[in-house]
Amino acid sequence: MQQINPQLRIIRDEVLGCTKCSLYKSRTYPVIGQGNHQADIVLVAEAPGANENRSGRPFYGQAGKVLDELLESVNLKREDIYITNILKCRPPGNRNPKLEEIQACTPFLLRQLKIIQPRIVGCLGSFASHFIMEQYSLSDCCAGMNQIHGKSFEVKRPDCTVRIVPLYHPAVASYNPNMIEILKNDFLSLME
Ligand code: SF4
Repeated sequence: MQQINPQLRIIRDEVLGCTKCSLYKSRTYPVIGQGNHQADIVLVAEAPGANENRSGRPFYGQAGKVLDELLESVNLKREDIYITNILKCRPPGNRNPKLEEIQACTPFLLRQLKIIQPRIVGCLGSFASHFIMEQYSLSDCCAGMNQIHGKSFEVKRPDCTVRIVPLYHPAVASYNPNMIEILKNDFLSLME
């Protein structure tokens, strides 16, 4: 049975009551995070979409089916990993996050990462990839997704070593089925 981390529960309760940016007004449910509180792998995406906003769960719609297929291709299940977002509430119309929203919300994500201490952070999509790379002092390595997807960047910290792996967002395979093989190859990089 998986252990529940009380510090993550505190974050959950804070997010459920959060009004730090205007996105709380239009959310149905925030998407806080889901999965294993002791995960070696954390996947970070940009923000909830419409299905996730309705359910409160990450990757609940078509992109979620693609994500499940990708995880299965490397013998992982959702309960083996932890999935979360940079923004916990949905930007209306899936617009890009605004700077003030990022500044208000990302302390939750950074606390989640500090508590879970994953060995690997998989970044889903360019927005999440660039944000996480900047947080881990990899700004010099930031480039277009066609150049960095599937690459593994090792970051040595005093208390741990983390690998950052930028990945295309699974939704791209919903629009372009040819992308699924590229995504599967990139997910193999997570497991190396
Ligand atoms: Fe709070 Fe983040 Fe939701 Fe904004 S997006 S209301 S900061 S939880």
